[in-house]
Amino acid sequence: MKTRCDRCSEPAVLFQRYSGRYLCAAHLAEDIISRVKRTIRAQGGLGRKNRFVLIPGGDAFILLVYLFGQITGMRPDTRVVILNTGGYVPELSVLTALLPPGVRVQVQDIPPEKTGEVIQAHQADRILSAESLEESAALVLGAILTGNSSSLVSPPVHHEYVHLFPLREIPEEEIDLLVSYYALPGAVQEKKEPSSARLLLDALVRKHPSVPFSVIRYADRLQNCMNQQQP
Ligand SMILES: [Zn+2]
Repeated sequence: MKTRCDRCSEPAVLFQRYSGRYLCAAHLAEDIISRVKRTIRAQGGLGRKNRFVLIPGGDAFILLVYLFGQITGMRPDTRVVILNTGGYVPELSVLTALLPPGVRVQVQDIPPEKTGEVIQAHQADRILSAESLEESAALVLGAILTGNSSSLVSPPVHHEYVHLFPLREIPEEEIDLLVSYYALPGAVQEKKEPSSARLLLDALVRKHPSVPFSVIRYADRLQNCMNQQQP
């Protein structure tokens, strides 16, 4: 690794292959936060309410909770419900410590099919999930490989809420670096066996670092076509 950040003289922690930049930990954090904010804006923003539902899952969940707190930090009386649908959920004390003081957090155990009811009962209009770039792209690729492309598009539904995927454009390597940079507790869940789609994606990325971005853009374009066809 070249030794210096392209934006300052600090040692670089990452060569961002898809952008061709070397970044130090602080500039990587700055870059990730601005991309996360941009993704949130593009997906409909955080809304005006101070009630949110967070869905655990993936190694990036801890980072999602922390960045959510950083971005919404100054909203008074913020309340967060974390849904426990049976997967790994960090301890409540760990989650509370990740968020600014004053944010009220509760973990609610529910079966996945009741998600909609909880969102309604909580009067939230934003749900946040923690899928990383690779997880998002592998889902798209998996749908194509199994001939299930129709699962990539859904008819425009007018939910009372907006589902946000703030880490959707952040690679896992960068998520791990940011978790270390902020000294956040690491994920303790067991690593799952990667899917065939994920193995294929990882193989493609070695030669073509921007492939995961192209794959999620493809799904976005399909969805846009669908939205334009239906008034
Ligand atoms: Zn720097």
